[in-house]
Amino acid sequence: GNGAQVPVLVIGTGYGGSVAALRLAQAGINVHMVEMGQDWSTVAPGPDGKIHPKVTSPDYRSFWMRTRTKQPLSNFLGFPIDKDVPKYAGILDAEDFAGISVYQGRGVGGGSLVNGGMAVTPKRANFASILPSVDAAEMYATYYPRANAALGVGLVDPDWFERTSYYQYSRVGRKHAQRSGFAWTFVPDVYDWDYMEAEDNGSVPKSALAQEILYGNNYGKRTLPKTYLAQAAATGKVTISSLHRATSVRPGAAGGYDVVLEQINTAGDVVTTKTVNAGKVFFAAGSVGTSKLLVMLKATGALPALNSEVGQGWGDNGNVMVGRANHMWDPTGDVQSTIPCSGIDNWDAGGAFAEVAPLPAGLETFASFYLAITKTQRRAAFSYNSATGKVDLSWQTAWKQDSITMAKTIFDKINRTEGTIYRTDLFGTNKIWGDHLTYHPLGGAVLNKATDNYGRLHGYDGLYVIDGALIPGNTSVNPFVTITALAERNIERIIATDL
Ligand code: FAD
Repeated sequence: GNGAQVPVLVIGTGYGGSVAALRLAQAGINVHMVEMGQDWSTVAPGPDGKIHPKVTSPDYRSFWMRTRTKQPLSNFLGFPIDKDVPKYAGILDAEDFAGISVYQGRGVGGGSLVNGGMAVTPKRANFASILPSVDAAEMYATYYPRANAALGVGLVDPDWFERTSYYQYSRVGRKHAQRSGFAWTFVPDVYDWDYMEAEDNGSVPKSALAQEILYGNNYGKRTLPKTYLAQAAATGKVTISSLHRATSVRPGAAGGYDVVLEQINTAGDVVTTKTVNAGKVFFAAGSVGTSKLLVMLKATGALPALNSEVGQGWGDNGNVMVGRANHMWDPTGDVQSTIPCSGIDNWDAGGAFAEVAPLPAGLETFASFYLAITKTQRRAAFSYNSATGKVDLSWQTAWKQDSITMAKTIFDKINRTEGTIYRTDLFGTNKIWGDHLTYHPLGGAVLNKATDNYGRLHGYDGLYVIDGALIPGNTSVNPFVTITALAERNIERIIATDL
């Protein structure tokens, strides 16, 4: 409530925030978390009897405070598929900046609620070049294993993979990759693979095999509320206020930090505004959420001593999407698991790693679909716009051309080998590349720049960043295992020395 005093406040309940909360609680410290999205475990089922709708039938539950859906694949056979919905605190935010839409999870569990669960540890050499100030030996000996274990990362059973109709699209993806000489690999995931096999044999309710992804999974995926946050709750030392948005953090008159929280309803109206005092504050609102807060707080004089690295070094992990049109003899399946389990690795030669992704349309599309992660050097900055009172991002859509060029090192070659062409109907009319979005925002409060080498913000004792904002724009693979492992490393040091 208003006027409350807490030892530690964590803003956001995604990967970084959940690691911080669990480890602090295990060290005996009481932690309060605030989350602007909903606690989906308490939300009433929708008209389909489920908490989360299928990816093929978005409704009011799907999008964060929009009046029209903004599906990542906006078109099918060239026809626009978005539709009007009532404004609601839905699970997926498509946050629009001038040059890019940044997709993020909203709710207790952050991105874990909406993501594909692909849990990839980067090659050590790539990690070392991305975060050179971090001891890579320690990361690979201790913190990556710790993160993988706590997240529940596993691999698809290769025998089942070969026989299930739900991964025909991945097997076609493998065939096409290998015929062009590319390395193809299984990719680990936090989805419960035994549960998925049980879905296939009909003994449990279907989730991944029933087109659930993007707008939440009802069963099977090990989201943060089932892993880190469940363990945190079991300590009895962690409380979470959902539908609470942090809007200000400033030094308190009697020490600590005064944090302003707006409690909102599911339509987005502010119900009450509270101020709490926290001894220490962890920014874990995600790359965009943390960067926006810090840039605004520095510019408006609440935290003027933050350094000029705040807001810098933001990247899109080089995300670009594309579909290929297959021949009639290469169907990808009218049923497809929503959980990707394989990828094509052309990072060293061409700067691209591509997930073989599902297109779970419920009918045969003869399409192979991919989300590529590329080694783009483009970085944008957040800045406070005093005219609008909002934070802008300097990303330009044209910068995605670099990523497209790298992704083409894979797909142009596959098309030549297979005698196939790109799909032009998935992102508009006659538009090949999905270059308008990212699922992987990273940076904005980069480690060892805006913060010290453990996430302590320069300029203020007791303020920390512990999420994707620490990572300078790219992880070479899907990011959440790296975000989690880095948070494990940083919180261990912070507990040992600051508390
Ligand atoms: P987040 O998980 O984004 O958590 C931040 C939380 O803070 C959110 O819950 C947010 O609502 C809350 N918040 C923000 N601002 C405030 C505020 N002011 N006050 C209170 N709360 C606030 N990564 C992978 O590794 N593998 C994948 O397969 C994968 N697939 C993805 C698919 C999709 C569709 C999307 C959108 C992302 C995917 N990602 C994937 C990316 C991954 O989910 C993110 O990198 C990860 O969630 C970032 O973790 P984080 O801790 O930085 O922040």
